[in-house]
Amino acid sequence: MNQRIADIQSRIIAMQTQQTATRPVKSESTTTTSGTPGTGGDDFASQLTQAVAATPTSGVHKLNAKGVPADLAAYGNGKIPANALEQVGNSRHKLWAPAAQSMTRMIADAGRDGVKIGITDSYRPYAEQVDLARRKGLYSQGGLAAKPGTSEHGWGMATDLDLNAKALTWMRQNGDKYGFVENVPRESWHWAYKPKSA
Ligand SMILES: [Zn+2]
Repeated sequence: MNQRIADIQSRIIAMQTQQTATRPVKSESTTTTSGTPGTGGDDFASQLTQAVAATPTSGVHKLNAKGVPADLAAYGNGKIPANALEQVGNSRHKLWAPAAQSMTRMIADAGRDGVKIGITDSYRPYAEQVDLARRKGLYSQGGLAAKPGTSEHGWGMATDLDLNAKALTWMRQNGDKYGFVENVPRESWHWAYKPKSA
């Protein structure tokens, strides 16, 4: 099964590369019947669509060797379009899809324990990283901001949480079950998504 998923993923990447190279967006409607020589044309595309639809989403969302979401890496840190991210519950916050889903589940479970977890910040566009570094200083120099372009927030992989003492205790006991870890000293509000299997 894993082999099959890997095979499908490599075919998707090959196909996306092919489309990017040969199909400008505005010509999409004029190329649907012609197909592209050598790629198998629309039959292959429709078969692939069906194969992908049958593939569990857990097989699609992977981290690359640098721990960056493979499906977001090409956009660049802080340059991810809103529709490539997923909303956390019904909040205004967005994260990488698996992180958003896990965070949504975690907040609901905490609520059942009588614990309120608020979100202050989530995905952070590059321009906001620059602004934050200017206002709060670089972490490496005693401040509270990552070097712009390197923030975990820029990959939709971290949240800053609004936690009272009870909620912070709950997070320290339960956060890692949902893949969220407190990984920056001096910042008990910063929780990054570091799933054990992704
Ligand atoms: Zn943070």
